[in-house]
Amino acid sequence: MGPGLYVHVPFCVRKCPYCAFFSRPAEPELVAAWFRGIADELARLPAGFVPDTVFIGGGTPTALAEDDLERLLDVIRARIAWKNVGEWTCETNPGTLTPAKALCLKKGGVNRLSIGAQSFTDATLQRLGRIHAAAENRAAVALARAAGFDNVGLDVIYGVPGVARETFLADVEAALSLAPEHVSCYCLEIEPGTPFADRARAGKLAVQADEQRAQFDWARQRLAAGGWAHYEISNFAKPGRECRHNLLYWSGGEYLGVGPAAHSHWAGVRWGNSPELPRWQRSFAEKLEPAAKARETLVMGLRRIAGWGRAEFRAATGFDYDELRGREMADQAAKGMLVVEPDRLRLAPDALFVSDSVLADLV
Ligand code: SF4
Repeated sequence: MGPGLYVHVPFCVRKCPYCAFFSRPAEPELVAAWFRGIADELARLPAGFVPDTVFIGGGTPTALAEDDLERLLDVIRARIAWKNVGEWTCETNPGTLTPAKALCLKKGGVNRLSIGAQSFTDATLQRLGRIHAAAENRAAVALARAAGFDNVGLDVIYGVPGVARETFLADVEAALSLAPEHVSCYCLEIEPGTPFADRARAGKLAVQADEQRAQFDWARQRLAAGGWAHYEISNFAKPGRECRHNLLYWSGGEYLGVGPAAHSHWAGVRWGNSPELPRWQRSFAEKLEPAAKARETLVMGLRRIAGWGRAEFRAATGFDYDELRGREMADQAAKGMLVVEPDRLRLAPDALFVSDSVLADLV
């Protein structure tokens, strides 16, 4: 599988108060500088790099003007054998998608649209500081379909403080009624450095973990019952519609990222770009020892609901997971957090909501 190309578009119309991703307003000088930077990075991609997947993320790629969006697709296509790309995703915010942009993406080679709907309730969208209303979520899906996209994903957020469980359940039903091929269900987390973190510190905002867990448990059962298979902690898909690019991250695959804050993993080295504009640089690079790399691959792969098959893990890393982390695996299994079968290892259903602490023990 793979490799993959990730392109970070660091622009948003307005910053959502819960978001810690790197983005700035799409001011013309910043956009021009960013184009120069990514053109430079794309030109320096290694010669043997032939991506199977492309993912344009952000930020909000569709915060770019239509001609800039077209130029971005041109610049990418000029560097890759794009007809060989199996999956080419672009993220979009419903408040920025127009019929012309949807068509431009489709004509430019994108074959999967990931729509940040987040909620289908206007009051929740306002609470999240989103720039769009629920009606625009529906309109965005209609635009995507009209432009010819047959692979559409919707993101929804659960566990928003002050949002009743019934409201979230109605959000999920509204999302499913639009028949997306893929649904990502993210937990609202309080990220350091965000306005939500300030409000939490001032005692004006508090997440309720029990309520978040109840909403997650309900959602994963509802989605599975509707035919969206739960394939990663936060992700659900109709058969064959799992996000191939993200599966690459979760299976220890190789990818190259261009743009500020983008990360790469190639030829045994991992590096990241600094979150800066107008210029960014490589902020770290590390060559992992084989065992450390294998432990990291173990943990990433356990995010998949199917976990790791013993033979699959050995083929991916050259190690047996018992040799790497046998004692920790036994501890977590005793706590009911890991299911250890003769030839397979996976998170127990009870571990899905608290996966970070379980996985931290295995890395
Ligand atoms: S639109 Fe997305 S990337 Fe931009 S600020 Fe909001 S959540 Fe963050």
